[in-house]
Amino acid sequence: MSEREPESLKQTLFDTIEAERGRLKLIARDIWENPEVALQESESSERLQSALREEGFEVTAGVGGIETAFVARYGEGTPVVGTMGEFDALPGMSQQAKAEREPVEVNAPGHGCGHNLFGVGSLAAAIAIKRSIDRGDLSGSIVFFGTPAEEAGGGKMYMVRNGAFDDVDAVISWHPGWYNAPGKGSCLAVDAFDFTFQGETSHAAASPESGRSALDAVQLLNTGVEFMREHISDAARIHYVIHNGGSAANVVPGEASVEYLVRAPERVEVERISEWVCDIAAAAAQMSRTDLTATKTSGMYGVLPNHTLADAIRKNMEYADFPLDDEREKFAAELRETLGDVEDSLQYIPESEREAAREVAMFTRPINAPDEGQTGSYSTDSGDVSWNVPLGRFRAATWPVGTPAHSWQAVAAGRDLGTVGMEFAAKTIAATLADLLEDPELRQQARAEFEERSADHEYESPLPEGADPYKLVNR
Ligand SMILES: [Zn+2]
Repeated sequence: MSEREPESLKQTLFDTIEAERGRLKLIARDIWENPEVALQESESSERLQSALREEGFEVTAGVGGIETAFVARYGEGTPVVGTMGEFDALPGMSQQAKAEREPVEVNAPGHGCGHNLFGVGSLAAAIAIKRSIDRGDLSGSIVFFGTPAEEAGGGKMYMVRNGAFDDVDAVISWHPGWYNAPGKGSCLAVDAFDFTFQGETSHAAASPESGRSALDAVQLLNTGVEFMREHISDAARIHYVIHNGGSAANVVPGEASVEYLVRAPERVEVERISEWVCDIAAAAAQMSRTDLTATKTSGMYGVLPNHTLADAIRKNMEYADFPLDDEREKFAAELRETLGDVEDSLQYIPESEREAAREVAMFTRPINAPDEGQTGSYSTDSGDVSWNVPLGRFRAATWPVGTPAHSWQAVAAGRDLGTVGMEFAAKTIAATLADLLEDPELRQQARAEFEERSADHEYESPLPEGADPYKLVNR
């Protein structure tokens, strides 16, 4: 039972979500059973689109040049509020819904990040808001953003560049996890590069003097970057992988390529470091007498937090109940058992909450934002959304305490256990979107905070000219 009685509008939203529970769970399960990886998630995308079309939403697919990206809109005029749903799976993560490691199909994809729940939780909220608009309880417009390819470089930046978020007052979004809390933190901005060097092949023993090694250039670049690392901020992250280092040891490599990711808390810092890395690449080509093709392939912003929206989300979490039954709790306990020691994960939540979390399989009680003032060492394509519209984010408990994302336990929980947290998320989103539609002061406050936090930097799409998400996935 919820700790507080929600006002009647919110109760109506919750009733709608509960009335649709069976259908929503079925969609989440269908997507779980047919896991599709980034940019190939056509059936998952269609599953969500058709549910929205049935409700009367106007659906535009293929947004920003991505076939599986879509925008679904309902209502008339302002205010305009939105929510986002992801639905892509992870390669190789296939796992049955049981408490031991056993794939449905070896090496097949699986929903290791709970995106089957993510998409449907947000869908449920959008439908509830739509029905309240129909009843005349709310006025304005609701937009559902179907955001693909989160696991493979991101799709939201392309939708942002396409103007999809331009007329939206605020967006509320969530992500599966093992606790219920709003997010007040940020994360790292990122740039991605491909450096390809062209040299001359020759017999490495008989005539090395006629060769020019492209692999030497890659190694000089990597070595140069290792020396640079001391002179950039501790919070920055640079990592690389060699995609092509030549073909045989007795052939001087005529072509070699390396992929780089450059991350830092601030966009300007990423750009500064990226420029330095590109200079080192050019110098490596000079040193090795090879030719360089440097290509920026992608980029993202870090998340701009919005405490106004986080607080509104936190308040609504108290209204949304978390109806975990004995059977699911038992399965959660079995799954949790397989995780072993989860103390490292527990460090993420405030110390005052750890004892309570230690004692349960599912940590259902909402907690305050655990990440205020922190910059997480990850990047997300939600960053670009947050620089274009006030974005409220939270996590909902779909997995047992301490479950890491991208683990087989996360996949196992996503088929059924996680649908309880999904419903909690749907109610939290719906209630917060209703607040935003009803309360001009809340909208204004969220906007004012957004303006203040983004005042020092004008957003410019970090995507390079001609960026192609399909190329990144299929390389
Ligand atoms: Zn995810």
